[in-house]
Amino acid sequence: MKTIAVLHASQLVTLAGPRRPRVNEEMSELAIIPNGGMLIHDDKIGRVGPSEEIERNSDGAKIIDVGGRIVLPGFVDAHTHLVFAGNRLDDFERRIRGENYEQIAKAGGGIWSTVEKTRSATATDLFEQAKKHAEWFLKCGTTTVEAKSGYGLTVNDELKVLGVMRRLKDDMPLEIVPTFLGAHAVPRGMSTDEYVDLVINEMLPRVAAEKLAEFCDVFCERGYFDIAQSRKTLSAAKKLGLKLRGHVDQLSNSAGANLMAELGATTADHLEKTDKNGFAAMRLAGVQPVLLPGSVYALGSTAYPGAREMIESGLSVVLATDFNPGSSPTSSMPMVLSLACAQMKMSPAEAITASTINAAYSLNRGDTIGSLEPEKLANFATFDCEDYRELAYWFGISLTHAVYVRGNRVV
Ligand SMILES: [Zn+2]
Repeated sequence: MKTIAVLHASQLVTLAGPRRPRVNEEMSELAIIPNGGMLIHDDKIGRVGPSEEIERNSDGAKIIDVGGRIVLPGFVDAHTHLVFAGNRLDDFERRIRGENYEQIAKAGGGIWSTVEKTRSATATDLFEQAKKHAEWFLKCGTTTVEAKSGYGLTVNDELKVLGVMRRLKDDMPLEIVPTFLGAHAVPRGMSTDEYVDLVINEMLPRVAAEKLAEFCDVFCERGYFDIAQSRKTLSAAKKLGLKLRGHVDQLSNSAGANLMAELGATTADHLEKTDKNGFAAMRLAGVQPVLLPGSVYALGSTAYPGAREMIESGLSVVLATDFNPGSSPTSSMPMVLSLACAQMKMSPAEAITASTINAAYSLNRGDTIGSLEPEKLANFATFDCEDYRELAYWFGISLTHAVYVRGNRVV
């Protein structure tokens, strides 16, 4: 057995606490150990405590002296579109010039341009690009990401993208939780209902049979998939044993949050336009909100979701990057923390809880990751600062010092 002793963290931010998603004031309780340390046995945490106590029990251990830096659980990013081809630089410039979504789509941009590039890319090309994205996540201190398909939109192309995720999971230290998002957009030349039938009758059975995804997601929005089409798709996925997530109420309030509550979904994501009624339904059904301030920022909007209202109504809030080439080209959870604090008025402690332990529960992994506690995986990051609040305060600066996955240094 390999034993590592991590010593002298100015703050060992453990997030130890109840074994469930954190709500209300619990989101502010980080269970910090000043001058903390950890003993790691192989891939798991064995003991957590004050540095002197860990040192006394460190016989034969390899010593990692973090020299007064902070230590946090690796970030858990519960909403990304990790695998796609190319970028959307032209859209970026058009948006800066004031063009709207329709104008950009007409000029050959928008989601369709990413679908075309992703379809024509080989699995090997996609793998190489996704590998680069995965490295970006690790460099920002993220050790687990949820990753959605949805840029293929044919049976073969969706399976190709999910296959790339499976290969990445085997080849890279970044842990990947795959989600099938066949209902991301309607391919050209098909009606929405025809496409929903294709997703339900041909894609979902293959995805479930080959165990290519743990979750199913839909883009429930005016002009994409309406409530009835979203319900139909997600209900079919649920019958096949997939858990549910959903892009809802981003641009308009279509009662998407209520639909996710009705279906017993694990998460409802975006929620920029959700009202009190939607929050209440989510709370009763135990649905976790996943907030994506990076996409609000990068689209040049100021319509951030109501994080304070959600926390005060007892929802177990999660923060994620929404990493994607169109609306949120960032893998940086520290940047998301900055946005959550400055724009959504979350406290730095709430933002850390939302991006670690709450995010872990939203991926059905609350018992193995998201906090630094005995028996959990030794996934953690050290940052060049002395106080966890600095992560949200110094924005646009990379403070990552080292990142460990299952006890192995990967950055
Ligand atoms: Zn998304």
